Amino acid sequence: MLMLPDDFQPAILPPTDLEPPARWLVFSANGELLVRSAETDLELPLASVWPFAKWPTVRRLYLGTLHGQPCYAAEAEQPKPPPGWTFEGLRALWTRLDEAWLGVAGQALQLLEWDRTHQWCGRCGTPTERRGKERTRCCPACELIVYPRLSPVIMVRVVYDGRILLARAPRFAPGVYSVLAGFVEAGETLEQALHREVAEEVGLQVNNLRYFASQSWPFPHSLMIAFTADYAGGQVRVDGREIAEADWFTPDDLPDLPSPMSMAWRLIQDFVTPETE
Ligand SMILES: [Zn+2]
Repeated sequence: MLMLPDDFQPAILPPTDLEPPARWLVFSANGELLVRSAETDLELPLASVWPFAKWPTVRRLYLGTLHGQPCYAAEAEQPKPPPGWTFEGLRALWTRLDEAWLGVAGQALQLLEWDRTHQWCGRCGTPTERRGKERTRCCPACELIVYPRLSPVIMVRVVYDGRILLARAPRFAPGVYSVLAGFVEAGETLEQALHREVAEEVGLQVNNLRYFASQSWPFPHSLMIAFTADYAGGQVRVDGREIAEADWFTPDDLPDLPSPMSMAWRLIQDFVTPETE
């Protein structure tokens, strides 16, 4: 599952004393990561200072260290990468790029997106600036402070009589089904959002909500919060808009599932083979 590795040490300010070579997580404006094929796998740029002198960046952010190695996020000004390097989407890099670095790349992608979309104050329109040791952008005129944006999304595995409810959204690849998910709306608790989404999307009631796990999902700034629940009433009736089809499946007869990068995959996998502590 895509996640920031546990030994990642976040920091705002880069080291000033020693300058060990840093990893550069370089993105295009449309969110693809710069990689190069190496002998066994893919590699990221490694250099103490920005390694592409003739290839300017629009923005750079220091992220912290992984395995003691400093890492930077950067957004390239030009879409055409230097010779030998290519841009690829993070989803396409799953299982190909080292999983820990892919996790750091997920954070880099979110922070670059936040920095890019908060260049001006949302209250008074003045250009914002980075300030001090916090991950913030501040307005020098009216003191508005903006933090990296997160959008909470609830996700729920509904089970009834040994079967799991899986649904297809029109935007999914053909044949792929997943658990239900939806954005938490302003003013709602996670539980209220969950009951509302299940009722809206498939017309069911659920109970016995239990927290399962969470995942940062940087497309572009979601925080997935997964629950399990039991069926408590109603007939499956899809809304035809967000959900095109939904049905109950047994563990030995599952449809195609979402990417193993995702929380949805882990939640479904745990239904087939429960995780043990
Ligand atoms: Zn302002």
